Amino acid sequence: MPKVTVDESTCVGCGLCEQNCPNVFEVQSDGIAHVKDFSDPACDLKEMVEQCPVDAIKVE
Ligand code: SF4
Repeated sequence: MPKVTVDESTCVGCGLCEQNCPNVFEVQSDGIAHVKDFSDPACDLKEMVEQCPVDAIKVE
């Protein structure tokens, strides 16, 4: 199971990851995306890593 993290100092809260994987990411009131659950098979995490405009998403 991959571990997913969002670098809070880099994320700009654009919401792209939340739009694509709402079960995994949530932009909270602090304006930063947080990881809720990274076990959603419907989410292509690699694609999210590539699409994040500031490279804030890391998958280990
Ligand atoms: S796509 Fe990247 S910058 Fe945008 S909310 Fe998600 S982690 Fe933050």
